[in-house]
Amino acid sequence: MGSRLEDIFDKVVKPIPIEIKLRGLNTAVFGGFDTYILSWTKKLEEEANEDKIKSLSSKLHQLFEGYGGTTLDDRHSRLKRSLDIVNDLAQEIKGRDIFLLKDGRLKVIKDSKSKDEVREKSIPKEGLTSIGGGANNKGSELKENKAKRRSKDLEYFWQSSIKYIKGVGEYWAKRLKSLGIEEVKDLLYYFPRDYNDWSQCKKIRDLSNGAKVTVEGKVVSINQISPRRGMDIIKVGINDGTGTLYGVWFNQKYIKKIFKKGQSYLFSGEVKFSYGNFEINNPHYEEVDFNGSLHTARIVPIYPTKKGINQKRLRRIIRNTLDKYKGSIGEVLPSFIMDKYNFATLDKALEGIHFPEDKKLLRKVRGRFAYEELFLLQLILALRKQGSQSEDLGIAHPKENSLVDDFLASLHFELTGAQQRVWKDIRKDMESEYNMNRLLQGDVGAGKTIVATLALLKSVEGGFQGAMMAPTEILAEQHYLGLKEELKPFDIEVGLLVGSLKAKEKRELLAQIEGGEVDIVVGTHALIQEGINFSNLGVAIVDEQHRFGVRQRATLQEKGTNPDVLVMTATPIPRTLALTLYGDLDVSVIDELPPGRKPVLTEWRGAKAKGEIYSFVRKEIEKGRQAYVVCPLVEESESLDIESATELSAYLQEDVFNDFKVGLLHGKMKANEKEEIMEKFRENQINILVSTTVIEVGVNIPNASVMVIEDAQRFGLAQLHQLRGRVGRGKYQSYCILIADPTTDEGKERMKIMTKSTDGFVIAEEDLHLRGPGEFFGTRQHGMPDLKVADILRDHKILEKAREDAFKLVEDDPDFNKEENQILKDILVKNYNYDFDLLDIS
Ligand code: ADP
Ligand code: MG
Repeated sequence: MGSRLEDIFDKVVKPIPIEIKLRGLNTAVFGGFDTYILSWTKKLEEEANEDKIKSLSSKLHQLFEGYGGTTLDDRHSRLKRSLDIVNDLAQEIKGRDIFLLKDGRLKVIKDSKSKDEVREKSIPKEGLTSIGGGANNKGSELKENKAKRRSKDLEYFWQSSIKYIKGVGEYWAKRLKSLGIEEVKDLLYYFPRDYNDWSQCKKIRDLSNGAKVTVEGKVVSINQISPRRGMDIIKVGINDGTGTLYGVWFNQKYIKKIFKKGQSYLFSGEVKFSYGNFEINNPHYEEVDFNGSLHTARIVPIYPTKKGINQKRLRRIIRNTLDKYKGSIGEVLPSFIMDKYNFATLDKALEGIHFPEDKKLLRKVRGRFAYEELFLLQLILALRKQGSQSEDLGIAHPKENSLVDDFLASLHFELTGAQQRVWKDIRKDMESEYNMNRLLQGDVGAGKTIVATLALLKSVEGGFQGAMMAPTEILAEQHYLGLKEELKPFDIEVGLLVGSLKAKEKRELLAQIEGGEVDIVVGTHALIQEGINFSNLGVAIVDEQHRFGVRQRATLQEKGTNPDVLVMTATPIPRTLALTLYGDLDVSVIDELPPGRKPVLTEWRGAKAKGEIYSFVRKEIEKGRQAYVVCPLVEESESLDIESATELSAYLQEDVFNDFKVGLLHGKMKANEKEEIMEKFRENQINILVSTTVIEVGVNIPNASVMVIEDAQRFGLAQLHQLRGRVGRGKYQSYCILIADPTTDEGKERMKIMTKSTDGFVIAEEDLHLRGPGEFFGTRQHGMPDLKVADILRDHKILEKAREDAFKLVEDDPDFNKEENQILKDILVKNYNYDFDLLDIS
């Protein structure tokens, strides 16, 4: 067997267990597991001489076609199936069996003796295919039955169809499906969006104008009045022995038919005193029933619903469900948590969230469900983190640091304490055999690039390559130029991979990367899109992570090997958000700016003051400094945007600063044009740079001291802070001038916050409060989970606790084998598609 074929086979196989460990996130490989596996299985097919191997390779190739676009469930099943084919291939190519070990590695069996040893710790491939589908050995059968028994109670209400609940049937089951309700559990967890408090019951004699109350009385009159054509008023009087109260309905004639004289009714609503009588407009009403009331005389739930399914129907159905399953609803949360927080049990809590007896109870049970929701979420993150942190999956970079030390010695500054601290974290991660998955946070200008450079150098020193991905070409190029300059003395090859490379240049670069001739590659998305093959990538860095989606961050794993990953963000993410979005990452923070930095002075002025502003800019330029003028993004059209920037630059050049050089930069310019402009600005041949928001992130020109932002009210706080971060990066006092005439209070508030604080974390928190997590730099696309009960702002304390508990649970019982964790396991599998069996090969 040719060793070349074995090499290719090894390449094919290597990321499969990693992908399994990552549970089918398509992230086992830098650039996407799917792209990788498709390209290598193809190569295997091409290189093979034997038909059998060819056909097996092609089978494997087909198995992974469309992998990236399919559901997690489907990916799991494909991964499981792939092991069979891989094993057949191993037999053909290596003459050996392959086993999946518990820690996620694939093991090739070398001889019969060790084969038995391995068998102890693993199961043969026949067993793998049967995972999930019943057992072909007694041990797992037993285990399954036991698990079934444990979760029987839960299953009972958890999964049965709602059809059999009183008041539902086929008809309503179909309608409720449109609200996403299919199983009993969906119904019980269909929580109110709000409540009406009609719990105050009063005698009519004691009513007062404006009171929100419930009144019980016998129907004494039903009248229709038609004061003019097209208007009908129905008045129903009820008497409780102390007086009469009238329910009033406009243009709802059917109401007449509902009430009968002599029947006892409850009316709830806001009381109005009108012409000597008490009235309630459109009262909530309900016939008195000795089983208790549902729509009045209590705190009444209001459900999110759609046309055709009214509140009363939903309340009735949920009431019936609660009654039916009372006593058979088990507990979801483990007892150590129930004890620790003294939570209401699930049945009580469900009763309490739908039909609370009082507000205090409601708050208590709401807290429980917020916890439950966040706890489950954090469990997933904890499991994911655990999954990606297996030994032997990562690279243990050598402990030598002479290259790093030499580089540090060549700098004209010392690292700040914070930089040293985070570098220690990173270094430790890199030297360990575990995989690094670290988020590096640091305010704009905190000096993250240097830290990234150290990580890249460490990788190179150990004989590996390094990659750094940036969100824009301008930024990628800046990093590239910076690295080239700084690394000149060190004989290190740096490459720049961006979308605008010419085909030939790209081909050459890709070959150099694959051949290991390039040590460090800087690039944009091109880096993950081109399916490039690193010879041996040791560390992958994502700069300005917030500009990439969570998915893209996740795609930053490697080709074949599994590099350490460092993601960096300058947009400070409030801790609560970070815990939710990046909860599976370790976090390091640079919380100190390099010495000598003067905070940027920020002023907010109206458009009237432009003349004054421009003379200020002039003074700074005369001192030798440079300035940015940023035009906002016009949402509707990028060309309008560019037009306004173009016009402004022409105006400034001709009418305001004709003795200086004004430059223009926008996103639609060709890459080499952009490069040229940035080069000139860097060299101070351009004094004033008029730009769209393309310069928002990362750009580092320490000589620039003024940032003028036009129509600043159009920007979010995080964005303004980023823009402001382009100045104040050197030793000069710098200024940010916001030109804005906001019309809304929120707009004014934003301007004020900017002038008050230069602390990115403070600003981010304010932004989060002003706009809410959904809007906060578009977190929705960033993988922010939809929370039903919990509010990560209000419930941040609960979040911290839930996180701590979840991580502890996963540490204590990583496979959820404990009896009381069985139910959680069920929920994670059913509701969050978490596939424990993917690696459950005991
Ligand atoms: P950011 O964290 O926003 O990416 P950069 O890494 O671009 O910030 O650093 C901003 C500027 O600060 C750069 O000019 C860099 O050379 C400089 N710098 C970084 N660390 C230090 C330090 N310890 N002392 C002095 N200047 C530093
Ligand atoms: Mg940066």
